[in-house]
Amino acid sequence: MKRLKFEELHLSDEMLRAVVEMGFEEPTHIQSETIPTLMEGKDIIGQAQTGTGKTAAYAIPILENIENGANYIQAVVMCPTRELVIQVSDEFQKLMKYKSNITVVPIYGGQEIGRQLKALKKNPHIIIGTPGRTIDHIKRGTLKLENVSFVVLDEADEMLDMGFKDDIELILAKTPKTRQTIMFSATMPEDIMRIMRRHQEHPKQIDVTQKKIDAPKIEQVYFELHEKTKPEALSRLLDLHNIKLALVFCNTRKKVDSLVEILKSRGYFAEGLHGDINQNQRERIMSNFRNGSTEILVATDVAARGIDVNDVEAVFNYDLPGDDEDYIHRIGRTGRAGKSGVAFTFIVGKEIYNMRRIERLNEIKIRRAMIPTLDDLDESRLEGIKNILSETIEKGHLSKFINYIEKLVDEDFVTMDIAAALLKITLDRKNESFDNSMNFHDYTFQETPKEGFKHRKGKSGSRRNDKFRSGGRSGDRSYSSKPEYGFDKKKRDKRKSKENKPWKRKKK
Ligand code: ADP
Ligand code: MG
Repeated sequence: MKRLKFEELHLSDEMLRAVVEMGFEEPTHIQSETIPTLMEGKDIIGQAQTGTGKTAAYAIPILENIENGANYIQAVVMCPTRELVIQVSDEFQKLMKYKSNITVVPIYGGQEIGRQLKALKKNPHIIIGTPGRTIDHIKRGTLKLENVSFVVLDEADEMLDMGFKDDIELILAKTPKTRQTIMFSATMPEDIMRIMRRHQEHPKQIDVTQKKIDAPKIEQVYFELHEKTKPEALSRLLDLHNIKLALVFCNTRKKVDSLVEILKSRGYFAEGLHGDINQNQRERIMSNFRNGSTEILVATDVAARGIDVNDVEAVFNYDLPGDDEDYIHRIGRTGRAGKSGVAFTFIVGKEIYNMRRIERLNEIKIRRAMIPTLDDLDESRLEGIKNILSETIEKGHLSKFINYIEKLVDEDFVTMDIAAALLKITLDRKNESFDNSMNFHDYTFQETPKEGFKHRKGKSGSRRNDKFRSGGRSGDRSYSSKPEYGFDKKKRDKRKSKENKPWKRKKK
């Protein structure tokens, strides 16, 4: 599957500008397949899991086709939950930032009906709603769909599971046959296919569910955390494992730039690589990385694809990639040529499900671990200090300093206290840039119940839910319940000795 560039999708300047501003580097697979098809006026039936960028896949062509001079509803987007309605509306807002006079109205239960009625009276161009509330408005006569040219069923399988089948049928029946129908679903059960056969014409079928790829055999670890704690977590891991050559992947240009700034301010030698960086800069950055003067390269997938660095000590998935296969490509940048390597993945909220899917599909195991505490860091640094101490003692020329200490002892200081205080000063200084108030150890994602919940035929969604509720972190039996990496001290000490850490590269 060849992925197109945004520039190849014949988008308006306003849209390209918004996409650049959002930091999107290139279309995801589903976007690359969907956008040109919808621009040609065809229907889409697409199978893709979450996190693959489906919203922009339909939002971009819809926004490009809205006639802002015509005051009637031109597009209807159906999502299973209130949460998704809000998320999708936000994505529309960002994408239409530079387009004038397009109006989008979100419609969901729990929101004051008067406000919705007022918003609907203004003849918006796009409606984004849950099926239940949308039907309410159709029945009240406050929503007219006779001029609609796009209907989107986002996460169709979820909507059917929630008992919205009749509502969806009704919405499709109320819209003109000439409309374009776009249906996305993670699974394709027969009842969905049946509805779509009745309501779609020669749809283009798109399947971006990934096939298994051979994953490199390296240690893979994940951490559950909040988005805002990622920089702290990254710094702690870099320090704990004393990593001198790392590749850190972010999903957008924006993230690359901001992370590089944060890392630099924390004293790391970091540089960023993405599509906005010109060839000259790129070569300079790469040569700095190769000779070790840059320790951490922060990159998007696109930028990293063009570089031939495959022997990094560690790969960080600072963001979980949207396309599953990128995960495998990313981690393949370490552990080459018989060396061992390690891949660290940051997981926020529901991304845990995407990660589990990547594991299942590729038959790999990604172990859960905890972000190291500052005490963990002290211990690991002590190792380093011990080495420096013995080197310094061996080299000698300490008389001048022994003199100072003797003077202090004359003033009634105790040598042990002096040594302890100096050690404390050294370690505290190293900890200055860390935030001790961040506690990573009591965070596990818990899903909130869905809005508009009617009934569910025991699908995986609810099962996952139960598992997290009852078991939490340790109840998840298929995964090591004992966080090991950076936590189990014995294991870590073993890893720290050089023989067991061949992926450690000495800095020149
Ligand atoms: P899905 O609906 O498939 O679960 P979303 O549309 O919600 O996925 O997108 C997931 C995340 O990826 C969002 O934060 C979105 O802004 C981001 N995203 C979408 N397209 C791209 C892209 N081309 N490059 C980088 N990030 C993207
Ligand atoms: Mg979605």
